[in-house]
Amino acid sequence: MKCQICNNTITPLKTKGIEILQCENCKGFWVKKGELNRLIKHQAGDIEFSSIDHHMHYDTHGILKCAFCDDQAMIKVNFIEYSDIILDYCEECGAFWIDNGEVEKMEEYIKSIEKNNAKPTILEIIMNTIFSLPKI
Ligand SMILES: [Zn+2]
Ligand SMILES: [Zn+2]
Repeated sequence: MKCQICNNTITPLKTKGIEILQCENCKGFWVKKGELNRLIKHQAGDIEFSSIDHHMHYDTHGILKCAFCDDQAMIKVNFIEYSDIILDYCEECGAFWIDNGEVEKMEEYIKSIEKNNAKPTILEIIMNTIFSLPKI
């Protein structure tokens, strides 16, 4: 199989115990349905499901064809809806194509969401209480 981005050879390999098909040159790779959830560290929720939207997105490369489905054109989806990390997704089998560096961006993004959703600290609660007191 050839990489659709740079035409180099795609090889199967394992990363973090997950089987992927990676391009030796550009380091982009294919993951099957369910594997992105396992690959990206996160606390809760189905990040694959949260990433599937049907809006138009622009990406650095054109439309890809799924490596696992014959001739199936993939769609562009926004990782967790508002991240601006654009992934290629196969509606037929649920596979993703991940460009080099996107795993790091996704983990960054997850971290920032989880930080924002974290329970407020005692200091924040006190500050909020002070600011919500009626002004004299
Ligand atoms: Zn490539
Ligand atoms: Zn597919």
